[in-house]
Amino acid sequence: MRKPIIAGNWKMNKSLSEAKSFAADTKNNVPTTDAVDSIICVPFPFLHALVEDTKGTDLKIAAQNMHFEESGAFTGEVSPAVLKDLGVTYVVLGHSERREMFNETDESVNKKAKAAFNYDLTPIICVGETLEQREANQTMDLVADQVTKALDGLTEDQVKQSVIAYEPIWAIGTGKTATSEQANDVCAHVRKTVASVVSNDAAEAVRIQYGGSVKPANIDELLQQSDIDGALVGGASLEADSFLKLVEAGK
Ligand code: PEP
Repeated sequence: MRKPIIAGNWKMNKSLSEAKSFAADTKNNVPTTDAVDSIICVPFPFLHALVEDTKGTDLKIAAQNMHFEESGAFTGEVSPAVLKDLGVTYVVLGHSERREMFNETDESVNKKAKAAFNYDLTPIICVGETLEQREANQTMDLVADQVTKALDGLTEDQVKQSVIAYEPIWAIGTGKTATSEQANDVCAHVRKTVASVVSNDAAEAVRIQYGGSVKPANIDELLQQSDIDGALVGGASLEADSFLKLVEAGK
């Protein structure tokens, strides 16, 4: 069975002291990693402190982006080598905010996914449609295309270890959640796509999260769906109490 994976995406929020007190309040209260993977995706400047603060606990630390090169003239960027060196274990790739505002493309997401595996980082690859695309009935084709391009050239084993987050853009930060049926239909289509471009075994193993206004009140129903293995959560992951409720729901 696939292990549930709940990740909080803090985006560009919190001060260092707020981040440290969140980690202090949660690190010993999340479920064990045997049951659920509990992750916080934090701004780059907090990575070092939070990896140190949570060492030996079941709370894992993720970056929200990275470059695909190991080093070089890329002012303002952070390399996978540095993330690995810091002890980071997961990295979010291709979040819709990065695709929309920072020129992230399917091609760069694919390069980053390959680079992540070269540095033992687990990628959380985000895909999802705009409201216009949903209304034009393009969701399934678009998401299948994003998944196919993101996974291109990865080995079957790497795909099995990957996490894919289906995040309809119209549901991110808007308070509008996809119905659990809508979310599951697309997650099932993501799995079918993995089966057709990689293998049935990879499709069975890959973990697929839903993201878009997930909160303690709606997570149970989402996680009960056949193809939803976890959640990527923005707003409702910022408070320790709420984050703990979300990871508990994964148990
Ligand atoms: C996100 O940041 O990926 C997200 C889904 O945000 P929210 O939960 O606030 O909609």
